[in-house]
Amino acid sequence: MLAVAHDTTAILERARSGPRLMLIDGQWVEALGGETFDVFDPTVGKVITTCPAGQKVDVDRAVAAADRAFQKGVWRGMLPAERAKILWRVGELIDKHHKELTQLETLNNGMPAELGGYTISFGAEAFRYYAGWCTKISGRTAETSTPTKMHAYTLREPVGVAGMITPWNSPLSLAATKLAPALAAGCSCVLKPAEETPLTSLRLAELMMEAGVPPGVVNVVTGLGHVTGAALAQNNTVAKIAFTGSGEVGKSIVQAASGNLKKVTLELGGKSPVIVFDDAMLDATIAGAAGGIFVNSGQVCVAGSRLYAHKKVFDRVVGGIADIAKSMKIGSGFDPTAQIGPLISAKQLDRVMSLIGSGREQGAEVVAGGRKAFDSGYFVEPTVLVNPRTDARVVKEEIFGPVLTALPFDDIEEVIKAANDTTYGLAASVWTRDISRAHTLASRLQAGMVWVNCELVTDVAMPFGGYKQSGWGHEFGPEGLDAYLQTKSVFVQL
Ligand code: NAD
Repeated sequence: MLAVAHDTTAILERARSGPRLMLIDGQWVEALGGETFDVFDPTVGKVITTCPAGQKVDVDRAVAAADRAFQKGVWRGMLPAERAKILWRVGELIDKHHKELTQLETLNNGMPAELGGYTISFGAEAFRYYAGWCTKISGRTAETSTPTKMHAYTLREPVGVAGMITPWNSPLSLAATKLAPALAAGCSCVLKPAEETPLTSLRLAELMMEAGVPPGVVNVVTGLGHVTGAALAQNNTVAKIAFTGSGEVGKSIVQAASGNLKKVTLELGGKSPVIVFDDAMLDATIAGAAGGIFVNSGQVCVAGSRLYAHKKVFDRVVGGIADIAKSMKIGSGFDPTAQIGPLISAKQLDRVMSLIGSGREQGAEVVAGGRKAFDSGYFVEPTVLVNPRTDARVVKEEIFGPVLTALPFDDIEEVIKAANDTTYGLAASVWTRDISRAHTLASRLQAGMVWVNCELVTDVAMPFGGYKQSGWGHEFGPEGLDAYLQTKSVFVQL
């Protein structure tokens, strides 16, 4: 039984009463045809509310509104310093409503409230970071070698209407890290949040209106991926799509984008290696590696899901992580002592349990967890699988659950080869006290982010993106802003 119940109605009422509506052209609206879908509470597996199920016609009117706002210049024509103030205010409003947003995120996603609070703060920080960029977007001049004298300069211009499609694992922060740079660049936006977790994105949109973002500049269309998301990716007025989600859907976005060759950035999955050498500070390593896979029940794209520990320390490291796994408290995110919340859905629960089963069949020994927890909700015990076959599905496929695979290694070349033997390339961590070895691995690991003696560190000032099939392009930092800008070269005959 769950230790703590939560009062769904009170949380929803504080956020907004009644069924949710979506935001198009500054108005809170139903889908034109009145279609809706259910939104679930993963902690108890029950419906908490409904949202409009936007169809192509709804997406098209949201994109038209965004395009009208862009053509009129109500946002991109505003003084950069004024746009900066509004984005900063969004950050402040997120902070002001931090508790309410955290509760809403925990209710809808299931994540422990402490983690929820961290992700909400990250979203606020993203708005403040990109508020600063509004006044710092500039082109350059060049001394050309043209036959006649030219004044040559570049302009950095917003791409136009930006479409954004987000997943369910960190809903508000993933929406914020797309909306904030797009708005700093001067774009208009249409956001399609994950159907599992639309609630904080809708509330964020409400706060953005309150902060002074003009009508039509930010639109949120809720709905199902293959309908609403696909319509957004296919819309030929959309100039750019920023997608975070699975590789499979990422590939369909690329195909859909070919209609008007819209720009595409993709933040996709990962299967990140955690490499532990025999000189590592083992207590810190064990705690770091456990946190790196079990946080948010492993539903983190950069989760350290493949442990490679040197054979001299393998038993101690695996034993330490297994002990942590067994001691972790599973429960409602509203229970302040709970460390592991539910997975997002029954579908995800079935997938994770079936992958754990395949791990057993493909040679792994389960040294911690391996079972569902509770009769209701979608909970899985933190799980450690030792010595699966190197080609086992649990080693190759992203599980997106609290499941770690552990394999020993003997030498550095062997572990680099094993770590890079994946179609993914999102993140990797190295645990060692040898500085030369740390930098060697940092350069040879095929991953968009490498952590040395730490896990899961991100900062909105540092680019976030994947090598290989973990994505195209970057979010965060100036790189994240570039994705919403295009460069024009101007030559003036003197
Ligand atoms: P998903 O790909 O199923 O869905 C993501 C979003 O795409 C949702 O909004 C969904 O409605 C939409 N969608 C689904 N089908 C679509 C279609 N045909 N056209 C357009 N949109 C469509 O992913 P998910 O299961 O929600 O999220 C988990 C995945 O996201 C994992 O693979 C995880 O690694 C990845 N992820 C990556 C990052 C990153 O930054 N790299 C961050 C978080 C999650």
